[in-house]
Amino acid sequence: MAIRSTIMDNNSFRAEHAGELEPETLRLTQRREDALGGSYRLFYRKPVHLVRGEGQYLWDANGTKYLDMYNNVASIGHAHPAVVEAVHSQMQQLNTHTRYLHERILDYTDDLRGTLPGYLESARYKAMYMCTGSEANDLALRVAKAHTGGSGLIATTEAYHGNSELSSSVSPALGSGQPIGENVWLLPAPDSYRTGVEEIEPWFAQQVRDAIADMESRGVKLAGFLADSIFSSDGVLPGNYLKEAIEAVHSSGGIFIADEVQPGFARTGEQFWGFAAHGVAPDIITTGKPMGNGIPVSGLLARSDVLASFSDTTPYFNTFGGNPVSMAAAQAVLDVIRREGLQQHAAEVGAETLRTFQLLGETHDAVGDVRGAGLFIGFELVKDRSTREPDRDLALAMLEELRSRGVLTSVAGPHGNVLKLRPPLPFQRDDIRWASAALDDSLKALSH
Ligand code: PMP
Repeated sequence: MAIRSTIMDNNSFRAEHAGELEPETLRLTQRREDALGGSYRLFYRKPVHLVRGEGQYLWDANGTKYLDMYNNVASIGHAHPAVVEAVHSQMQQLNTHTRYLHERILDYTDDLRGTLPGYLESARYKAMYMCTGSEANDLALRVAKAHTGGSGLIATTEAYHGNSELSSSVSPALGSGQPIGENVWLLPAPDSYRTGVEEIEPWFAQQVRDAIADMESRGVKLAGFLADSIFSSDGVLPGNYLKEAIEAVHSSGGIFIADEVQPGFARTGEQFWGFAAHGVAPDIITTGKPMGNGIPVSGLLARSDVLASFSDTTPYFNTFGGNPVSMAAAQAVLDVIRREGLQQHAAEVGAETLRTFQLLGETHDAVGDVRGAGLFIGFELVKDRSTREPDRDLALAMLEELRSRGVLTSVAGPHGNVLKLRPPLPFQRDDIRWASAALDDSLKALSH
């Protein structure tokens, strides 16, 4: 299959390197190939066999310790005892579904609504719960269509929003094997480094207006614009530039879905939610990954009038979504974020990490740009700083070099040349030193 782009295949295991593997790694890799569907991809030429995690660290079967610079699912730290305990005690008591009364889901929803930025009227938002980000976006898209009566959707050219029929139809990051929906308009991401456009807000809004005009000229009515507010798979693009684009969507009768699966839950430091950096009011907010710290729980918060257009006519039942055990995990995550001050921590340690990586970047010609918000950093590698020509091969080689220095991460962006650095939130100052030494040494090892 020709791969148009990146996220799923950027550094996968290649069979031609099988000879370099330790016997146990080879055995597991082969067993996996025999047993599992071929769509699964492994990271690294020499796949990593992890057996334990704690906080921001992981250990493999040989006892090697790794610094996790990639996983935002274990967002409050791998194997956090508060989540383990919450899940354990709720599991011992009861686990059912949303067709019976239960307080946990209601208490959690009140708490979750309380995390919305002050400029939103939180009581106007209602919650629905599922198990994956894909399901959250799938429902959000169905609600968008029901509310607007339209079918036209706008997303960005390297977006990833999920694996269901509908959410994958707005996920070009899956590559050329994945058909894009008939009524989906894809726009280049608001990337001022790559486009060279300084005033990115009006530039992007114009793209949105042009897409809507094109849609209407073809008789397609706008349903909505779906965006990850830090454009994670488009290359990690922090900033405050979405307002004008969202105004254009709203004034054309569409809704804005903020996909917070990656930027949500305190990751970006200054705000609890990524969209809040843009000061915009989403009609639907979807979330997943960090919400249960590894327990499969996802959800959406939707403006109640928008949701009603769907829910008045259509029942929605998700067997596992919103169950008491999932809600216990999710509640523990919110409690820990508050108790351990993780949002503030992400802001402070994230700012220090960004500064350190930026200074490091200045000393290497191959580093074109380093940007970030909180503990979410994009480290962009180029062949030439003046032309900004992306260096995908270097980025892929960096993943292997970093791994050999105990640092795990991956890449993003339409050219697969941006290291996506996104550690669990308990990331500490000592970890900055580990990560920056690994980046420095890896860049030196690969410079020619
Ligand atoms: N949206 C975004 C922005 C994501 O990064 C992902 C997962 N990578 C999803 C949606 C889908 O989430 P899940 O894998 O839980 O279905």
